Amino acid sequence: MRAVRFHGRGGQGAKTASRILGTAAFLEGFVAQDSPMYGPERRGAPVAAFTRIAQTPIRERGVIVHPDLVVIADASLMQDPAAHVPEGVDERTVVFVNSPLTAEQLQSQTSLPGRFTTLDLTGIALQQLGKRTAISALLGAVAGSLIGLGQESIREAIARELAELGLAAPMIERNQTVAAQCYETVPRVAIDVGLRRPTAPVPLRTPTYDPPTRGAASITAGPNSAIRSMAGWRTFRPVLRPDLCNGCWLCFANCPEGAITIKPDGKPAIYYPHCKGCLDCVEVCPTDALTVERETAATREA
Ligand code: SF4
Ligand code: SF4
Repeated sequence: MRAVRFHGRGGQGAKTASRILGTAAFLEGFVAQDSPMYGPERRGAPVAAFTRIAQTPIRERGVIVHPDLVVIADASLMQDPAAHVPEGVDERTVVFVNSPLTAEQLQSQTSLPGRFTTLDLTGIALQQLGKRTAISALLGAVAGSLIGLGQESIREAIARELAELGLAAPMIERNQTVAAQCYETVPRVAIDVGLRRPTAPVPLRTPTYDPPTRGAASITAGPNSAIRSMAGWRTFRPVLRPDLCNGCWLCFANCPEGAITIKPDGKPAIYYPHCKGCLDCVEVCPTDALTVERETAATREA
């Protein structure tokens, strides 16, 4: 069996990528299983998805604890404890990261073990698909390439899954074309076929239960969201051009995180530690006073 774990941020397409991989495997005659796992359902929040591929019926369910391949849709997730990227990753795990850095550069910056490979899918999507977009087709193609599935089945799986999401045929075709390039160009690292899982069965356990008062949420505790930075959630950041702003406040009214305040002169100000990069403000701005810049590790800290 091959076990693939996808890590992404809400809106990047990790869940659809796992479906594309599973569908492609199914089209090649394998047994396939895929499932997503969400925490808070917010754009930018860490999400994970799991795909198992085998030649025989798959009895396992749930999260993949010992992945053969980990696909990371955003390098910032490697530093985000809420994403749990390191879990079950060892020196034999193949780790793909969507990053403009090389595998060697990336590996020198992290304590994560594994055999790294990278490709700048966000840069490719910006250049070839022409705008900020979910990169599910590209993630699925890269995973398919690394796991050893054929390009034709990936192409067909992209068509099926993106059609189900309601994408128009020309956009699906463009995704297929760019995904094929990613399939070809991702530096391949052979998946280790050795057994990584514990051989002895893990005994079933009977859980012990705490009293309900322990697990119930407190409704009297003060809010703490103000101290939580979401800078790491951003792939792109909104940037204000004050000379184009007409002070309509639409960005302020539409920001789901309250990250925009209005200054005494009536113009908005973005508080970046609370901006998750959803870009809703950019979408609603009538004067294009809010532009988009790609986030880097350096700008994220700023
Ligand atoms: S400032 Fe813009 S990009 Fe940031 S959270 Fe608010 S709406 Fe989203
Ligand atoms: S939506 Fe655009 S024009 Fe309106 S206040 Fe915000 S930045 Fe200015």
